[in-house]
Amino acid sequence: MLWQNEQIAAQPCPGCNEQLDCAAPVSSERAVKPGDYSVCIYCGCFLRFGSEMRVRLLTILEVAELPDERRIGLLRMRRTSERFRRERQQ
Ligand SMILES: [Zn+2]
Repeated sequence: MLWQNEQIAAQPCPGCNEQLDCAAPVSSERAVKPGDYSVCIYCGCFLRFGSEMRVRLLTILEVAELPDERRIGLLRMRRTSERFRRERQQ
């Protein structure tokens, strides 16, 4: 899997207020674009890029309505973010 961080407009995570300034596409090699889903590396909340690449929290209903494959992908990313936080604390 290719993880290539790209810069996005710096903004606070709506879930934890940590500053977000990059994103990594995980399912393809194309650039991140509005409408893409994401997971905050700091708190693991589910996000979605909107216009001008601002992120907002996904609602529980939106998560429930995602196709299984997409939801599983987000849960895998959340697990990766949990590992990142554990390593950060050591
Ligand atoms: Zn966060």
